Amino acid sequence: MTLTEKILARAGGRAKAQAGDNVWVKADILMTHDVCGPGTIGVFKREFGKAAKVWDRDKIVIIPDHYIFTADSKSNRNVDILREFVKEQGIPYFYDVIDDPNGHWVFDPARGQLKKQYGSNFAGVCHTALPQKGHTRPGEILFGTDSHTCMAGAFNEFATGIGNTDAGFVMGTGKLLLKLPETMRFRLEGRLQPGVMAKEVILHCIGEIGFDGATYRAMQFDGPGVAGLSMDDRMTIANMAIEAGGKNGIFEFDAQTQAYVDYRCKLNGTRTSYEPVERDRVEKCVYELTVDLSKLEPLVACHPDPGRRKPARELADIKLDRAYIGSCTGGKTSDFLEFARVIRGKRVAIATFGVPATPETVHDLQSSRWGDKTIWEILVDAGVQMTENASCAACLGGPTDTFGRMNTPMKCISATNRNFPGRMGHKESQVFLASPMTVAASAITGKITDPRGFLS
Ligand code: SF4
Repeated sequence: MTLTEKILARAGGRAKAQAGDNVWVKADILMTHDVCGPGTIGVFKREFGKAAKVWDRDKIVIIPDHYIFTADSKSNRNVDILREFVKEQGIPYFYDVIDDPNGHWVFDPARGQLKKQYGSNFAGVCHTALPQKGHTRPGEILFGTDSHTCMAGAFNEFATGIGNTDAGFVMGTGKLLLKLPETMRFRLEGRLQPGVMAKEVILHCIGEIGFDGATYRAMQFDGPGVAGLSMDDRMTIANMAIEAGGKNGIFEFDAQTQAYVDYRCKLNGTRTSYEPVERDRVEKCVYELTVDLSKLEPLVACHPDPGRRKPARELADIKLDRAYIGSCTGGKTSDFLEFARVIRGKRVAIATFGVPATPETVHDLQSSRWGDKTIWEILVDAGVQMTENASCAACLGGPTDTFGRMNTPMKCISATNRNFPGRMGHKESQVFLASPMTVAASAITGKITDPRGFLS
């Protein structure tokens, strides 16, 4: 069996299962957020009754992160609905924007868009927050009402996005009927070269198979090259499995996975026991691709889909209006460090927005120093508009007052994960997906730029 088949067979109480089987599986975690949470709660109440209780309150994680730092009243109301539901159900894992369980978030104009507007429990973007807060464990099943839930496959678990109807059902029963996906295998060899990041690995793979090339399939990443990838790298790669239509992305378990998960679970007091899955000697895969990481070069996925991969060096004539670093995929501390490595001591030539994925990243960047300056100061000195309000921000467009949103047609290079028309705001804008290093180099020149020329 493949890694995905093994996890799903076990969660369905079976010794064996294969692609195409329909299996009832038990959920270990159900995650929802401010966009889909209210809809999920609505389905749950409609189907199970107004007074119904969730199947297991310790297994539900609620993370407002999408449309939160906005004056849009409907968006604010969504978070209020989550807060009321959490109180009613006694759900412990709710990473609210404010500390007062009876309060209501209001925009503080004195702080504006750049200064922190959240309380002590806030966790930032759901997919980055889940592992940081100790909710991702090897061998488990994670369902989330968001397509990039597949990011947690980095931790050797089955993680996938589901719709509100399915999520309402899981909320009431803890189970879901799944058709087991076929597996596509991506065998990674070698090591990434300077100037090349994990983003290149996934842009390369999607470029090979197209933006629908893995539709309802598991993308399994294994091989000797995995050892040289950090957990952040693996998250970046697994996150974008959905950009090829994948049901999930999944990595092998190793000592790095164990160290990360054990540390995070202990730190947050979440469950520390888990059972990873290992590869069988014989696996049935419907596709195999070997990727030599040492041969990859900086890549860009061109407008209008994540499969339009081209080398950055071939796109030097594309002039840009904007650069953006942020999101679950590209707003982690390690992403900002690589971005800062390129941008340090220089000035950006175009409007450049930086949105950390989580408050932890804000803290990391404001407390780590290179010489006499913090990373945060280095970025601000270079002209990057850095906000402390960790969130999805303009990755998904959002209300018109969203930080970094493209409200007019423009060309943007972005460390995010999706570039379909209208994704970051205006439907005639164009988004070019790239690594944080390529975004940094392009912000400096105002054109799409291979970052290798900026490395000392
Ligand atoms: S940062 Fe972007 S991709 Fe990630 S959860 Fe938010 S909107 Fe989705």
